[in-house]
Amino acid sequence: MENITLFQFFHWYYSAEGNLWQHARDEANQLAEWGITYVWLPPAYKSFGGTEEPGYAVYDLYDLGEFKQHGSIRTRYGTKEEYLECIQMLHSKGVKVLADIVLNHRLGGDKIERVPARKVNNDNRSEYVSDPVKIEAYTKFTFPARRGKYSNFTWDWHTFTGVCSNNDIYVILNEYSKGKWEEMLETENGNYDYLMGNDVEFRNPYVRKELKKWGSWYTKLTGIDGYRLDALKHISPDFFPEWLDFMKHHFRKDFFCVGEYWQNNVYTLLNYFETTGERVRLFDVPLHYNFYDASQRSDDYDLRQIFDNSLVSEKPEAAITFVDNHDTQPLQALQSTVEYWFKPLANAMILLRDKGIPCVFYPTMYEAKYFDIQDGEEVYVELNSIPAVGVMMKIRKYLAYGLQRDYFNHANIVGWTREGLDEKPFSGCAVLLSNGEEGQEEMSLGSRNAYKTYMDVCGYRTEKVTLDENGTSVFFVNGRSVSVWIDENAEMP
Ligand code: CA
Repeated sequence: MENITLFQFFHWYYSAEGNLWQHARDEANQLAEWGITYVWLPPAYKSFGGTEEPGYAVYDLYDLGEFKQHGSIRTRYGTKEEYLECIQMLHSKGVKVLADIVLNHRLGGDKIERVPARKVNNDNRSEYVSDPVKIEAYTKFTFPARRGKYSNFTWDWHTFTGVCSNNDIYVILNEYSKGKWEEMLETENGNYDYLMGNDVEFRNPYVRKELKKWGSWYTKLTGIDGYRLDALKHISPDFFPEWLDFMKHHFRKDFFCVGEYWQNNVYTLLNYFETTGERVRLFDVPLHYNFYDASQRSDDYDLRQIFDNSLVSEKPEAAITFVDNHDTQPLQALQSTVEYWFKPLANAMILLRDKGIPCVFYPTMYEAKYFDIQDGEEVYVELNSIPAVGVMMKIRKYLAYGLQRDYFNHANIVGWTREGLDEKPFSGCAVLLSNGEEGQEEMSLGSRNAYKTYMDVCGYRTEKVTLDENGTSVFFVNGRSVSVWIDENAEMP
């Protein structure tokens, strides 16, 4: 069984002047070399604001950079042809592709409608603060440049549950909503069905039918291998099981599926995982916040608690572990960027242990430099790359297999070993982390590794260690660092 690794191939500020599809195509070989199983590509369809927006403000799901809508033919990432070419190239190198599926909302409608609606309290959306009124809103989507190609479905106020007008949120009074939001699993903001733009009405059977039609069109056209589902917290939990089952039966294929449910409470994540019949793996948000916290607190943080209340410890088969993503990077809404010094440690913890499927974030390997406005001031951000993570990804692919032994004995120095497997030549590794002083720990890789000589492949430590007849040795780590020890004879591409 090969280890699975995901790679998020974009960040929030990836330049609109660039061409991500060409860039990903050109990196296909490198991604394969790192051992990436699935590349997560950003939303491929036309957004409100055209190339100015990363793709989550969906305008037209059928426009993959083919029609002149919202100011350009291409999307922020390139044209439809470039997208398809990129996927083909990745496939030719044995790398699979996850598509970003954004179905919760639509923005940038073509026509104004007069919509019957009631204003709600922003902090408690279940509470009306107006009588039924008619408001004017851009709720009609006719896609004039596409002119009915692929689908002649028109979106209007019967297909939406809520809108925003003058910074107020309104629930729409249509025949499906009858003035009520769809039920979510939790009660944040009274009800968190509404996130942004025009909120899609999933109780409308024509909407469900259209989204299945779109899903099969898109999946067939692109040949993608799985889905990353956006904004699950704001979509009725009974929608995606139906949609995913439809795809599975339609294509007679199991699609890899990971969902974004932004919630630090692991029990809410478990509830969602179970409610949706374990169909959707979830990003391990609590683990991300543990990393963030640990990186802020330095040696004041007890590393033995790093996996506490995380999804990967409570329900490993549900967890997609990650260090940072496009929402947590600096200047973003959920900004909680893990400090640079801690990133090698955090990446080792997601890549080299036996539980969870890790997702590595683009700037980790390709860096990111960008400006944005915060509180009226222009702020410049530089996220530097971490070459050691490239080595760790290869170790995950080739060597990080077999029985895991944990050595979580000290608050500031923790480690583990992997014993290796016979079918993986030279496999096995030992990992030691410190969030304080330089240190050491005696660890064992089992007698199958007796008398082997190990070295720190990340190069932070320069000595070699020789394992005794039980496969045991003292291993070393620098202060605020990580060392990853492998057989000195191991060969990786
Ligand atoms: Ca919603």
